[in-house]
Amino acid sequence: MRILVTGAAGFIGSHYVRTLLDGGYPGYEDADVTVVDELTYAGNRANLPASHPRLTFVRGDICDLPLLLDVLPGHDAVVHFAAESHVDRSLLSAAEFVRTNVAGTQTLLDACLRTGVDRVVHVSTDEVYGSIDRGSWTEECPLLPNSPYAASKAASDLLARAYWRTHDLAVSVTRCSNNYGPHQHPEKLIPRFVTTLLRGGRVPLYGDGRNVREWLHVDDHCRAVHLVLTKGAAGETYNVGGGCDRTNRQITSALLDLFGVDWSQVEHVPDRKGHDLRYSLDDSKIRDQLGYAPRIPFEEGLARTVAWYREHPEWWEPLLAGGEGR
Ligand code: NAD
Repeated sequence: MRILVTGAAGFIGSHYVRTLLDGGYPGYEDADVTVVDELTYAGNRANLPASHPRLTFVRGDICDLPLLLDVLPGHDAVVHFAAESHVDRSLLSAAEFVRTNVAGTQTLLDACLRTGVDRVVHVSTDEVYGSIDRGSWTEECPLLPNSPYAASKAASDLLARAYWRTHDLAVSVTRCSNNYGPHQHPEKLIPRFVTTLLRGGRVPLYGDGRNVREWLHVDDHCRAVHLVLTKGAAGETYNVGGGCDRTNRQITSALLDLFGVDWSQVEHVPDRKGHDLRYSLDDSKIRDQLGYAPRIPFEEGLARTVAWYREHPEWWEPLLAGGEGR
């Protein structure tokens, strides 16, 4: 079995590949893995084993069709994580989001089709649905993305469906809620707050902090992606939720408690433009059809995540200075 994983020098993809290479997915202990990653500011080669007999690392852009046509032949499956992933950056400049997330995904799907790849999983996000005041989204809900990031992910999500419908490419889509865990870039909420508190700084809380997100440990997300790869149906979309709703105030409060500090460590900053108020997924489809259930309780996962950042300043400190991809 040969699996090509895009964007696996980043947060979630690297967790997936490390778990795969460590034998964490039964039946795939012998799988060979090829990673294609451009190593943008978000990619870090050190997130993957320096040398592993079953890992091949290719520094490359998913918009580069000749490169993909060269690398893809012989692979049985593709798991597609590569993306520009930070909402705030997409508010400042959306061009790179459209290039990588939309054109890059289309190029990758095309290359999979041309080289006869049997199975593809496209990793999408709950942000494609927009914002929901009450209740939860099922996979049938309309896509109403609000940020350029979410719109570019919605476009790529629909391209995946179109390549299945038009060309019969065996692609499935996952739409997951907010992830947290080790190796997440300190630009994202939880690692940003953790690394700020570790340096004794004040954490910047957007607006009134009422925004609700559903949090899932990266290990649970990756297990769901692998489940969809191995048991999911082509042309189907699967929501992957955490079942753990928290306002940003609650996240802040939990982190302050873990550090033993109070709200004087919080700085209220103007809200993000167009900030979605609430996300909530109905993930009964993947639970009922594929037997998925998250395993890591939020409080336990959060404490372990804080411990990881405390123990690995050499990983995150260079990134605070705007360190580029390595
Ligand atoms: P990340 O920003 O940590 O990693 C993205 C990776 O993609 C980096 O290694 C980067 O170098 C690589 N990359 C970027 N542009 C590329 C290109 N043109 N060609 C090749 N590689 C390129 O992102 P993440 O948080 O690990 O997210 C991975 C995927 O999961 C994304 O598709 C994201 O939309 C999706 N997702 C993320 C979350 C979350 O909470 N982080 C939740 C749901 C879905």
